[in-house]
Amino acid sequence: NGADEPILRLENVSKSFFGFLAVRDFSLDVRRGSIHALIGPNGAGKTTIFNLATKTLPPTRGRIFFKGTDITARSASEVARLGMVRSFQISAVFASLTALENVKIALQRFRPDGFAFWKSSKVLHALDDRAMALLCDVGIESYAHARASELPYGRRRALEIATTLALDPELLMLDEPTAGMGHEDVGRISDLIRTVARDRTVLMVEHNLSIVANLSDQITVLARGERLAEGTYDVVSRDPAVIEAYVGS
Ligand code: ADP
Repeated sequence: NGADEPILRLENVSKSFFGFLAVRDFSLDVRRGSIHALIGPNGAGKTTIFNLATKTLPPTRGRIFFKGTDITARSASEVARLGMVRSFQISAVFASLTALENVKIALQRFRPDGFAFWKSSKVLHALDDRAMALLCDVGIESYAHARASELPYGRRRALEIATTLALDPELLMLDEPTAGMGHEDVGRISDLIRTVARDRTVLMVEHNLSIVANLSDQITVLARGERLAEGTYDVVSRDPAVIEAYVGS
């Protein structure tokens, strides 16, 4: 196994909601170090697969492996500790806290020694520095002391990514990272994803096909809960079944 082993594997996974089969017998390998996108028309099953992979939803059938470990029966917080962290489509930051405070809280999640409120000033300064560095990484250091609620939308999404990076994930799961964004923010978030992916794997659900074309190494196209095609953008965008699924939807 080792280096060739996919970081994430879904094996014959199905999900039914009250008898409706939203995902059927779906398998997926996500290569370590890649940017992998899940695309497909509305209702194709992208969100359901994303939720199955992150253990937000239990599968009806099939198995899920992360770094070779069977995580089918693990909870979302357990897989987060193992190194798979998701960002939410709806921003999940504390609105009344500052950007810096949000990142500091995220930095202290999952730490065995707990929160550092009572720690020495040296420890607290180190925490400040680390949080500030993360805000720089996502390009919002000038908003460090602004409340999250005061950040423009695109900057809030960048903050949300900073709070997920604070957990130092090996696999970053992004649910529609550019949803609702204007052109400028889309460009910024794309650059950010590319930077973030230098030393980690990214799996994203994304509607914006130009983002997908620009960023992804590997694309899985879904339709009606099944895999329609897989490969690079050049390959899948020429696939007649993919064109048909998009035009027909
Ligand atoms: P996508 O993200 O590709 O738009 P979804 O995964 O959200 O697709 O949905 C796939 C199918 O499963 C849709 O037909 C949707 O109506 C159905 N579905 C998703 N979640 C639920 C649920 N909680 N209960 C019932 N049906 C659901």
